[in-house]
This record gives sequence, structure tokens and C-alpha cells, in this order.
Amino acid sequence: MAVQEKLKLIIRQQQLDDELDLIISERKGLPEDIEELEGQVAALSKRIEIRRKREDENKVRKQTLKGDIKVSQEKVKKYKTAQASARNNKEYDAITKQIEYEEQEIKKAETSIRGLEELEERQGQLEAKGRELMKEGKDEDLTDDMMPTDELEKQLDDISAEVKDKKKELGKIIKDTEDEETELRAKIEKHKKSVNKEIKDIFARYLHLRKGRILNAVVKLVRSSCSGCNTRVPTNRQAFIMQGGFYTCETCGRILVAETIFDEVKAVKVED
Ligand SMILES: [Zn+2]
Repeated sequence: MAVQEKLKLIIRQQQLDDELDLIISERKGLPEDIEELEGQVAALSKRIEIRRKREDENKVRKQTLKGDIKVSQEKVKKYKTAQASARNNKEYDAITKQIEYEEQEIKKAETSIRGLEELEERQGQLEAKGRELMKEGKDEDLTDDMMPTDELEKQLDDISAEVKDKKKELGKIIKDTEDEETELRAKIEKHKKSVNKEIKDIFARYLHLRKGRILNAVVKLVRSSCSGCNTRVPTNRQAFIMQGGFYTCETCGRILVAETIFDEVKAVKVED
């Protein structure tokens, strides 16, 4: 295959890739937005779950402690009855020790409950402070602890609704362009094979440039310069390009070809 024909293959590749990019750009960054928002949903859900778990654990812990107190109180009651009918001092003292032990257990449990209640109170105060700050619009002063759980839930609902809307919008766009995209992707795959076969080195350079977000990897020589970066091309290289060859711009790395080759590709594009 003549060099000119090979260059046409790479220009055609660029046209096809541009067409696909155009379809994808119609999605207006929705896939990225959705991904970002879904990350936020996951983080918020986790935060809420941790809080709920902590609340549940405290509730269970308090209930257990209250149950323990009741059991100890029952025991004290029973011991006191037994104490009243103690047969001797030794028996009386032994029961007293049992009563003292249970009373101490009750005290310990009560202290633990108070500790838990104090924690809840402190959390409540922090959240009250948080609500105050939010009301004043000073959200940036809010610490993690200050954010009330119901506010987190509200945020979660809002973001989830936003994700749903965006997904619906994206679904509609994708549906509208689905057939076009499938067809184009198949065309690109097929074309890639011939490009890779005929012009492997330049294609590798092309892919490298596009990966670096230089979408116009192949450009025309315009007014003796690279039309990608406007750097002037050495005269002997210009002549080479005009004869149907190509040149790699020393400034931007783009693949430079003659304008006529571009025009020829454009002319046959419709048949493809
Ligand atoms: Zn250049």
C-alpha cells in the first residue's frame, strides 16, 4: 500500500473516533456525574449505618444493664427475707456479704447507664450545635459529629433522587444513540484492524496522542506550519509532506500530512 493510502487510513480512523466522541459527548458527562454521586450515596449510607449501629448497641447495652439491676434487686429482696430468719450470726453475716455484693453490682450498672446517657446527651448537644450552624449557613464549621443523622438521611434522599434523575436522562440519551453507536463501534473495530496492519507505528503514535487527550493527532500542514501547534515545519520536510509523506511535529508530536490527503478522505467518507 502506498504511503498516501496508509495515511488516509489513519485520517479516517480519526474521523471515526471523532464521531464516537461526539456521541459520547452528548451524554454531557452524565456517566461521570452518576459515578461521583453514587460514591457520595455509598459514603453517606455507611455513615448513617455506623450511627444506627452505635445507637442500637447502646440501647441493647442499656437494656441489659437494666435487666441486670432488676435481677440484683430481686436477689437483695430475697436475701433480706432470708436474713430476717437467719439462725445465727455467721449465717446473718454471710447473707449481709451477698447483699453488699449485689448492691455494688447495682451501683456499677447504674454508673454504666449514666455514662451511656451522658454520651447520648453530649451527642445531642453536638447535633444541636450543628443545626444552629446550618441555620446560620456556616456548614463549613460543622464537624462529622455535629451533623444530625436526619440531615444525613435528607442528603442521602436528595442525592439518591438526583442519581435516579440523571440515570433516567442518560438512559434516554443512550437509547436515542444506541444503534448509531453500535454501528460506529463495529466500523471502528473493523477499520482499526486494517490500520494496525498497514500502518502500525503511526497508529501507535496516534493512540498515544489521543490517550493524552490530543484528539487531533493527525493534522494538516497549513501555511508551512503544523496546524496543531503552529510551529513552522522545516522546508525540506514541507516538501516531503507535499509529496504525500508525513512528518512528526517536533513541538507537539502530532502527525503532519498534506491538506490534499485530508480532502481526499473527506470526499470518500460518504461511501463508508
Ligand atoms: Zn505541532
